[in-house]
Amino acid sequence: AFSVIKPAPPVEIFHMIKLFQDDKDPKKVNLSVGAYRTDEGKPYVLPIIKKCEKELVNDPKLNHEYLPILGDPQYRKLAMELLLGKDNCAIIEERVLPIQTISGTGAVRVGCDFLAKCMKRRVAYCSNPTWENHFGICRTAGFKKVKGYTYWNPKKRNLAICKLLSELAEAPEGSVVILHASAHNPTGTDPSRKQWKQIAEVMKSRNLFPFFDTAYQGFASGDIDRDAWPVRYFIKEGFELLAAQSFSKNMGLYCERAGCLVLVLNDKKHIPNVASQLTLLVRQNYSNPPAHGIRLVTKVLGCEENRCEWASTVKKMSSRIKEMRKALSEKLVELETPGKWDHIVKQIGMFSFTGLKPQHAEKLINDKHIYMLKSGRINVCALTTKNVEYVAQSINEVVKA
Ligand code: PMP
Repeated sequence: AFSVIKPAPPVEIFHMIKLFQDDKDPKKVNLSVGAYRTDEGKPYVLPIIKKCEKELVNDPKLNHEYLPILGDPQYRKLAMELLLGKDNCAIIEERVLPIQTISGTGAVRVGCDFLAKCMKRRVAYCSNPTWENHFGICRTAGFKKVKGYTYWNPKKRNLAICKLLSELAEAPEGSVVILHASAHNPTGTDPSRKQWKQIAEVMKSRNLFPFFDTAYQGFASGDIDRDAWPVRYFIKEGFELLAAQSFSKNMGLYCERAGCLVLVLNDKKHIPNVASQLTLLVRQNYSNPPAHGIRLVTKVLGCEENRCEWASTVKKMSSRIKEMRKALSEKLVELETPGKWDHIVKQIGMFSFTGLKPQHAEKLINDKHIYMLKSGRINVCALTTKNVEYVAQSINEVVKA
């Protein structure tokens, strides 16, 4: 029966992880996966997470009973407050519905399912380029049309704001637009506040529906609140919206799948109906969410002292990334590598959209044991004081070849 099944293309990032693991060369570097690494090139368990994990293990009150379908109430409240700010007017007016999800991916998926199936939205727009899963999720969720809006000017290596605005101005009314709240993946380039205001203006005039993907809160500026500004601004401007939240990156909880879908409505009287439809969507999908990761998030966010320690760790992680940006860019300039490299320093968050071409990426993978995406995106967190010189020299060689 299974002979009808054709092979699907590999998921690039996970394919790279496998190639990297199988590579025996001691110089190997994995610049593909979006996970933080220490300066020793090791995965990082945040100290505050370690501390909370010990407390969890020894908590006699905990058990493994099912969580409610829409998740743990205390976690949902804390996650919502982290994104919107405790004093947000929408929270005070009780018109926000946060639901626990299977990390950011699950939040994007449940959100798109809800918009396409329950709210009957037909068209979704994703930034071009974007995290490659956005397009696939939108299609699977059942939008009739999934389109890209131009985001990137490859020549100037900056945001193509004019094209972005003119394309959104032509989008059919009621379309859903997926926006990256901060630290855009893969370009590492966010709109300025002035540009966000222009985006909000055009979206309001076309009655477009914003769906923010917030996978990197804290990683863009090093400041948790600052990175949430675009979402908070849209709410202030009166938008109803969805936002997908992830604690994979900013708490280093990748495999624990701690996320949240935040729905902001203009009228709280619709919340019970919305919640009831989301309950069915989740029930028929995975029934209820996992507990371990969100228990850790709850411990961190629910205690002022823990939260402060976490915020300072986020700042440290984001500073190390900035140092590595500088080191790579300076080494490339020093080696007189053809082209300009200041964009590596200007870009923000985990990633740099280097401008390297697919043929460069291929050579780096095959000849230099340096794994990266064909799009030229590298994970700057995977650079260390020990490997940055080797990476710069290798880039220099493939660009000059
Ligand atoms: N959105 C974006 C833009 C991302 O980059 C990622 C992670 N690569 C996610 C969502 C989802 O991550 P997770 O499911 O681990 O929260």
